[in-house]
Amino acid sequence: MTDSPTLALAKDLISRQSVTPEDAGCQQVMIERLKALGFEIEVMVFEDTTNFWARRGSESPLFAFAGHTDVVPAGNLDHWHTAPFEPTIVDGFLYGRGAADMKGSLASMVVAVEQFITDHPNHKGSIGFLITSDEEGPFINGTVRVVEALMARGENIDMCIVGEPSSTEVVGDVVKNGRRGSITGDLTVKGIQGHVAYPHLAKNPVHQSLLAIHELATTEWDQGNDYFPPTSFQIPNVHAGTGASNVIPGEFKIQFNLRFSTELNNETIMARINDILAKHDLDYDLHWTFNGDPFLTDTGALLDAVVGAVDNVNQTKPALLTTGGTSDGRFIARMGGQVVELGPVNATIHKVNECVKVADLEKLTAMYQKNLENLLAQ
Ligand SMILES: [Zn+2]
Repeated sequence: MTDSPTLALAKDLISRQSVTPEDAGCQQVMIERLKALGFEIEVMVFEDTTNFWARRGSESPLFAFAGHTDVVPAGNLDHWHTAPFEPTIVDGFLYGRGAADMKGSLASMVVAVEQFITDHPNHKGSIGFLITSDEEGPFINGTVRVVEALMARGENIDMCIVGEPSSTEVVGDVVKNGRRGSITGDLTVKGIQGHVAYPHLAKNPVHQSLLAIHELATTEWDQGNDYFPPTSFQIPNVHAGTGASNVIPGEFKIQFNLRFSTELNNETIMARINDILAKHDLDYDLHWTFNGDPFLTDTGALLDAVVGAVDNVNQTKPALLTTGGTSDGRFIARMGGQVVELGPVNATIHKVNECVKVADLEKLTAMYQKNLENLLAQ
């Protein structure tokens, strides 16, 4: 039996060892296919990262697929049952690094567009592809830079499907229609180092901080809303002390991270945390890292089209969730358009023996194609 177009393309992409930020020729394969459909291609290289933007049509609305060709490293090869960069089918599953995250999605997108354009060569609006090779890396020179370049010339994506593996049990059971924001604080509380036997000559920053940390850890930041769970605060790292049992430490480093809902933003969080620290009269430095604002795609044309497309294929509607980590969707959402994530089952992503059900690739292709029909068919 010959492979379906989606399966054949997914295999081709998986066989290229595009460990982040390498692209290993994956984008060129996609570009050739899109060029043949009449897409205009713009390769955008920023530092070590290759990206491309492709567009077919000049009208509004501009609908785009977004995704990444890079993958995380294979990990321990002894634990793989198949070679990670040799796509292999076992019992109806396609194995290989990137099968689910997200070369299967990329193949589905390209084939869905090929089939849609064959049926609707004079479609409404425009179709875009925003593809990067640094989603799994530091996300500095990837989607965020392409978004900046597009925004600078007023070319804003109105609607976007990111092909991240959103599904949990069957493909399409979950569509992510937003993501929480993420902010990290690196707090250094300063004391005075000294001998534990002479505490009156020192100032212990651990002791000084405990009530403030307790208050931070027990504060209710918000109650969430219809789409978001309550904002969470967690301390992943702390450090103080020299290792010696007779030295009062000179400083105490506490790192915290908040995953926050659309009820809050960076400014309100920073202000509330500084208020708490000030109340406890601490001498401190606080360095912030902004990992992304929350975004939400509420009711609208895109959500209707995607939910309808999933329903058409699965005979059941997807759950709309905002759970999970951040994704490149947060950068695309800055353009002010609607952004959702729809992709394969995420059970094996970043693990050894990453796989995707072959039948799910066909379903995903059908969902993407149906979505295009719902939005852009004449
Ligand atoms: Zn991914």
